[in-house]
Amino acid sequence: MTPFDAFAPSAAPSLRTPGLVDGFGRAVTYLRVSVTDRCDLRCVYCMAEQMTFLPKAEVLSLEELDRVSSAFIEMGVRKLRITGGEPLVRKGVMALFERLSRHLANGDLKELTLTTNGTRLAAFAADLARLGVRRINVSLDTLKPDLFRRLTRGGDVRQVLAGIEAAQAAGLAVKINTVALAGDNAAEIPHLIAWAHGRGMDLTLIETMPLGETGEDRTDQFLSLKTVRQELESYWTLSELGHNTGGPARYVRIAETGGRLGLITPLTHNFCESCNRVRLTCTGTLHTCLGREDASDLRAVMRAGASDEDLKAAILNAIDAKPEGHDFHIERGSAPALVRHMSTTGG
Ligand code: SAM
Ligand code: SF4
Repeated sequence: MTPFDAFAPSAAPSLRTPGLVDGFGRAVTYLRVSVTDRCDLRCVYCMAEQMTFLPKAEVLSLEELDRVSSAFIEMGVRKLRITGGEPLVRKGVMALFERLSRHLANGDLKELTLTTNGTRLAAFAADLARLGVRRINVSLDTLKPDLFRRLTRGGDVRQVLAGIEAAQAAGLAVKINTVALAGDNAAEIPHLIAWAHGRGMDLTLIETMPLGETGEDRTDQFLSLKTVRQELESYWTLSELGHNTGGPARYVRIAETGGRLGLITPLTHNFCESCNRVRLTCTGTLHTCLGREDASDLRAVMRAGASDEDLKAAILNAIDAKPEGHDFHIERGSAPALVRHMSTTGG
C-alpha cells in the first residue's frame, strides 16, 4: 500500500457538515502538535532517565509543521496547542509561532497556545506575547528545589519561577499544570493551589497516565484526584463550574482562594463523548484518541509529494475513523497500557 491509497477518492469520506467532523458527529476543533520529542528535563512519570531521542530526519521540519497545522486550521481547527517534549528546546520554534500567527491575524485561528516546562520561558515570553499567544500552560509539580530536582532528574525550579514571572510580566495568562504524585507532592498540593491562585493563575491537577516506559512503577505514583478532592473539601469550599473545554478537565471554584481548580482524571472519568481534539506527534503521526493505538502517518503523505488537497483528504479520512472512546488501565506491575511516551504524543 502506498501512502496515497489512504486518500484514494473512493475511500474519502464526504464532509457531512462544514468543518472537521468525525464518524460520531463530534467536531474536531482542537489540535495539539508536538514539535519535538526532546526535553531538557526527565520527569519521572514522563521519561526514562536515559532516553534515546529520534534522529532529526524523522522529526517534521518547521515547514512541514507549518504546512500540516495550516491544513488543519483551513479545515476547521480553531485552537492549536504547541507542545512536546519541551517545545522551547526546538531550534527555530519561534519562527514556527511567527508563521502560525498569520492564522490568528486573519481570524481563522482563535487561539494559539503552548504547554511548556517553563525552563526557557524567561527568554521567549515577550516574543510569544508579541506573536499573539495569550495564554500558556506551565507544568510545575512542586515549589521545593530539592523535590523539583528529584522529580525532574536535575531541573532547577528557579528557572521555571523566573519564566512564570516573565510570562506574567509580558501579559500572558498562565495556567499551572501539576501532576498529582502519591508520596511526592501529595502533601504540597494545597500549598501549590494557594500559591497559584494568590498570583492570579489557575491550576489544574492531572492524574498520572500509563503512557510509555519510564523505569518507575506508576502504581506507586498514582494518586486518585477523588482522594485529593475529598481532602481539599475538608477545609475549602469547592463549587462546580459549568466550564467545559471538551477535554477531560472538570473545573471547580475555591471560595477561600477565589481561584479556579481543574481536575483531569482520565482514568476515572469518561469524557470521550465530548472529545473535540486530536494530536499530531513530532514525526507527523496523527492520533485521534490519546488512549488508543490508532495512527495515521501524515509525514509519509507529505513526503510522498502530496498536494494540499491530498493532505487534507488524508486528514479527513483519519478524523472520520476517530475511535468512540479510550481504554486506560493501570494494574500493579503491568506494562504501560500504551507504549508511546507522553513526550512523543504531546501532553
Ligand atoms: N514539556 C512540556 C511540559 O512539561 O509542560 C510539554 C510536554 S509534557 C508531555 C505535557 C504535560 O504532560 C505536562 O503537564 C506533564 O506533566 C504531563 N505528563 C507527562 N507525562 C504524564 C503522565 N504519564 N501522566 C500524566 N501527565 C503526564
Ligand atoms: Fe519534559 Fe514535559 Fe516530559 Fe517533563 S513532562 S520530561 S518537562 S516533556
